[in-house]
Amino acid sequence: MITVKSFEFNYFSVNTYLLHDETREAVLIDCGCFRKVEELELSSYITANNLTLKHLLCTHLHLDHVFGNGFISKIYGLKPQAHKADVETLPSPQEQARLFGLHDKIHHIPIGKYIVGNEIILFGNSELQVRLVPGHSPGSLIFYNKKNGFAIVGDAIFNRSVGRTDLWGGNHDVLIAAIKDKILSLPDETILYPGHGPATNVIEESLNNPFL
Ligand SMILES: [Zn+2]
Ligand SMILES: [Zn+2]
Repeated sequence: MITVKSFEFNYFSVNTYLLHDETREAVLIDCGCFRKVEELELSSYITANNLTLKHLLCTHLHLDHVFGNGFISKIYGLKPQAHKADVETLPSPQEQARLFGLHDKIHHIPIGKYIVGNEIILFGNSELQVRLVPGHSPGSLIFYNKKNGFAIVGDAIFNRSVGRTDLWGGNHDVLIAAIKDKILSLPDETILYPGHGPATNVIEESLNNPFL
């Protein structure tokens, strides 16, 4: 049984997800912790639950989803994993910060491993299926767990909305097609955990999302 713990971090209110199962092995997805108090909130939870971090995954490489990668790399020795298309298309986190008018120092950690669609990521007794859902960014990924019926969907789809497509490599038609093909094809009751805002599920968005 996987526990999905969510945190809301940084200027952009990004959802960071920490998944762990009965073995106490864990996967961290979109580590957005930025302020010291946020780093402490995350590390305290990991310590209190006696978790061992196995993977640091990125749904995509927009700045708000990678703020905490430097902290995780330093404290837990993990390198982030992401799709190659985002590495090749998006500006570096420092450059994105400059373009968003932020003057904070960003600790940029290079991607340690590329992940691709259909790959299976293992931790403890659990697995995540990687699905490529481009459009918000060219290398946007979701992480699906069939057994527990949920997917971490990044900024592809939100509760009653979809990801913006005006940033580097974005494409609205590609996004809508990918959502229909890779997300709405999941079982109706599958819980969707987005990069911002509250969770939803497949049937709710199929019926009520005005963008679909
Ligand atoms: Zn994004
Ligand atoms: Zn975001």
